[in-house]
Amino acid sequence: MKKPSQLSLSPATRTAQALHFINPVHGAVVPGIEPASTFARDGDYMPIGNAVYARDGGPTVEHAEAILADLDGAASSLLFTSGMSAAVALFETLEAGDHVTCPIVGYHGTIGWLHRLVEKRGVKATFYDATQDGALAAAITPDTKIVWIETPTNPNWDITDIAEAAELAHAAGAKLAVDCTVASPCTTQALELGADIAFHSATKYMNGHSDITGGVLSLSETGPFADELRMIRTLQGTVMAAFEAWLLIRGLRTLHLRFERASESAMAIAKHFENHPKLSAVLFPGLPSHPGHAIAARQMTNGFGGMLSLVALSREAAHHVATHTQVFIPATSLGGVESLIEHRIAVEGPHSVVAPELLRLSIGIESVSDLIADLEQALENAP
Ligand SMILES: *Cc1c(COP(=O)(O)O)cnc(C)c1O
Repeated sequence: MKKPSQLSLSPATRTAQALHFINPVHGAVVPGIEPASTFARDGDYMPIGNAVYARDGGPTVEHAEAILADLDGAASSLLFTSGMSAAVALFETLEAGDHVTCPIVGYHGTIGWLHRLVEKRGVKATFYDATQDGALAAAITPDTKIVWIETPTNPNWDITDIAEAAELAHAAGAKLAVDCTVASPCTTQALELGADIAFHSATKYMNGHSDITGGVLSLSETGPFADELRMIRTLQGTVMAAFEAWLLIRGLRTLHLRFERASESAMAIAKHFENHPKLSAVLFPGLPSHPGHAIAARQMTNGFGGMLSLVALSREAAHHVATHTQVFIPATSLGGVESLIEHRIAVEGPHSVVAPELLRLSIGIESVSDLIADLEQALENAP
């Protein structure tokens, strides 16, 4: 078979074809699922393939990881059972006395886990204000081992300059880890911008169909750190299972298409509702009025993603809108083909630092005019 090896292919093409997959035995154009928990050895008692035992990974997981590494331009990518199990594995590399940074307003699971490490393990953490210039630089100490940033941050969509954060981290001898769940590799190449670790909740855009949880650590280098993370994953037993990896491969094949559509629709919705009489603000990094827009425009090269927040005039108004949509589904999570609306503070609970008036929207792939009409009708009778 003639392979288009002379062509320089775009990531969208490679991902759509699951890395030009053709089954060598029978020609199937879709990778199969390999659910085996254990793998036989050959006559010399050597593993026949790469796999030994499924808690280390297996062929289906490896195929998904190869696609992810290709998307992120990574030396290797590791797949986990969820975004949180990937983050927990990364923070497991910290010792007592080591320091980590994290945004004050960001993904609440990460923040909660770091608070636990501070209380129970003697890890030190500084939560910095991602809206303030210089706050990240001031948060870094000589003990900092991991500079954790999130961009755009959930749910205010604050933007941090990845290249600048990489310089700050590296000057302190720390690694830069970027939670780029919202800025998929279609639009942001965190490793190319200098990050050591690109983190994604694969539950979100990468899978895109709200039917698995998954997490990814894409690493800029092979070596002892990558080996340690793989060992942690094996011993914690947090590798993604084969069926989930297969669904993820299927989801990834349409990632570029879905992300492009979500980005376009989110932009249209943000523009439509900016200056709406029933709203005090629209938070979306694609709007020139967003404080992080200039940096976002530089590092989100192919769309601003499908996440935005609407700030209603009161908590009651936000509650009203979240309970009166007919197309938007009132549920947490993001990055799926179906649009979701969330009254974020109600989901995060009493410790939340999110504005009570904030409505988080995840824009899916539906008709954008239906989405706009739905929000308009829900806002119409809001107090
Ligand atoms: C969802 C999410 C996570 C956690 O991922 P899970 O797959 O839910 O464990 C981390 N960061 C961000 C920005 C997320 O949206």
